[in-house]
Amino acid sequence: MKTFMPTLTSREELAEVQLKGLQWTVNHAYHGSAVYKEKLDRAHVKPDEIRSLDDLNRLPFTSAKDLADGYPFPLLSVPMSEVVRLHASSGTTGKRKVLCYTRKDIDDWAHFFARCYEMAELTPEDRVQICVGYGVWTAGVGFQRGCENFGALAVPAGPGNLEMQMEFLMDFQSTVICCTASMGLLLAEEVERRGVRNKLALRKMIYGSERSSEAMRIRIRNLLGLSDMYDIPGMTELYGPGTGLECRCHDGMHYWADYFILEILDPDTLEPVPDGEIGEMVVTTLRKEAVPLIRYRTRDLTSLKPEPCSCGNILPRHDRILGRSDDMFIIRAVNVYPGQIDSVLSGTVGIGSEYQVLLDRREGKDFMVVRVERALDAAAADDSETAARLRGALQQKVLVTPEVEIVPYSSLPRSERKTKRVFDNRPE
Ligand code: ZN
Repeated sequence: MKTFMPTLTSREELAEVQLKGLQWTVNHAYHGSAVYKEKLDRAHVKPDEIRSLDDLNRLPFTSAKDLADGYPFPLLSVPMSEVVRLHASSGTTGKRKVLCYTRKDIDDWAHFFARCYEMAELTPEDRVQICVGYGVWTAGVGFQRGCENFGALAVPAGPGNLEMQMEFLMDFQSTVICCTASMGLLLAEEVERRGVRNKLALRKMIYGSERSSEAMRIRIRNLLGLSDMYDIPGMTELYGPGTGLECRCHDGMHYWADYFILEILDPDTLEPVPDGEIGEMVVTTLRKEAVPLIRYRTRDLTSLKPEPCSCGNILPRHDRILGRSDDMFIIRAVNVYPGQIDSVLSGTVGIGSEYQVLLDRREGKDFMVVRVERALDAAAADDSETAARLRGALQQKVLVTPEVEIVPYSSLPRSERKTKRVFDNRPE
């Protein structure tokens, strides 16, 4: 079977590929885009001065602001005649981001997306029901082109429409489903309600684009009787989905480091965090033609997993996305990300998923209160024991000892959009 993995045998070889790609990118961006030329001139970097990967930290950052400023075709580094497609983000946080692609960009994306299916150990016999958005977004067409390139059967179902999804699952005997975790849960519950699990051939799920709790994943897996589930990362700025995938070891996501360099930086100081610690993902592309990214600040938080993976693949790994750097707060000199609290809560028995974090200052000292709902099936009599367990877990994982308040189920506000969870009442 054809492989889409790089033929690299060591991290040294990977570093050589990265250096060549970095040199190409800086040169290409400098000569192709007036915006990049000005940025690099201001940073006093000439393209031929990039001699090692350490020179990366001499390069200026780019950000969402650069994309907004250049709307509708920001950071374009090729003539418009070489652009064959554009995609746009949903614009949930401000102006829609529009990204252009050359034919090579599209082919590169389809190549490394096929790698995702390979990592999930699919075969050309697999039938892949793609239940994500088609249109100007990167999702549908990304999953689709990758699947066709890999050689499995693509069923372009699109999102929603449970009735049709069920029909396709049964009639086409889809073996793999690609969707968001919440869509996966809806489908799983529908399969359960109709009692049709034994009429399905579904074995695997590739899910992404939102945070999902461990409990949710276990429920989906059990209801659908899946053999495996794989988290997939991706963002419009960096081609789209498919820039990496969880392997069968489920200890982080391998990412395609022969297509981009990933730095994890402290969002305040913009210096690298120690290996394995949480910071902001900053990406530099190595082959992207239409819109190369040089040290693009994604605002997404994660950490690297520096040790080799037991699956044997040498491509490096990052952890799940833990939220956005804009949500970070500092208490008693510790950087805290709501995603860290999320992950501790989802691993604690007896509490629900809704919570609030309240920050306060009393007699010159900072305090953090975590207010969390009791689980639907938990008893109030167990509150003090649950609170003590949660306090211990937070102390260990977040390095701050909070006060924990347990409130009745369903007493905290819910919203369909992003729920406000952190309330900072400390004086400036
Ligand atoms: Zn692995």
